[in-house]
Amino acid sequence: MTLPRPSKIVCVGRNYLEHARELGNEVPERPLLFFKPPSALITNGEAIVLPRESGRVEHEGEIAVVIGRRARHVTEDQALRYVAAYAPLNDVTARDLQKTDGQWARAKGFDTFCPLGEPVPAEAIDPRELEVVCRVNGEERQRGRASQMAFPIPVLIAYISGIMTLEPGDVIATGTPAGVGPLQPGDRVEVEVPGLGVLSNPVREP
Ligand code: MG
Repeated sequence: MTLPRPSKIVCVGRNYLEHARELGNEVPERPLLFFKPPSALITNGEAIVLPRESGRVEHEGEIAVVIGRRARHVTEDQALRYVAAYAPLNDVTARDLQKTDGQWARAKGFDTFCPLGEPVPAEAIDPRELEVVCRVNGEERQRGRASQMAFPIPVLIAYISGIMTLEPGDVIATGTPAGVGPLQPGDRVEVEVPGLGVLSNPVREP
């Protein structure tokens, strides 16, 4: 499915209780938003490059929503009409820099830090039924269900579109379940949304 290149990638932090807790946080009162730059995007099979600035880069397997038409002040009831597709996404994160910087632009924004799988048309997909699994070298590290999200997908679209206009091709990364962990050179990390497909990326040094 061909979609416009995103004008922005809007990410949601701490949207699964167990993941918030594993990093010593609680689920926030409102969705916690941050951005990844479109320059971080790579596709299935391309390498995640570990930057020299970080000593700890982690995987975050997530369900991505791809917007199909301009959305501004959309209600929760109408929100799913604005979705073109769903896809697996890896919100690759330099965990050490996330802690030291306070702001997350660097930790989340390095080139190659946003692997995005093939988008699957949203028709016939009930997003409440979606699940995400992350494996490193074939070993399962993360598994979560959309039904466990603190803020479900229609709530996220309504909330975000009340702040900024979502354009066709824009991506929402809906948060990661528990089990995040480090990536090493030579690893292969897979994010699967069962029924949609698998996103597989090797990890290498610069
Ligand atoms: Mg994330």
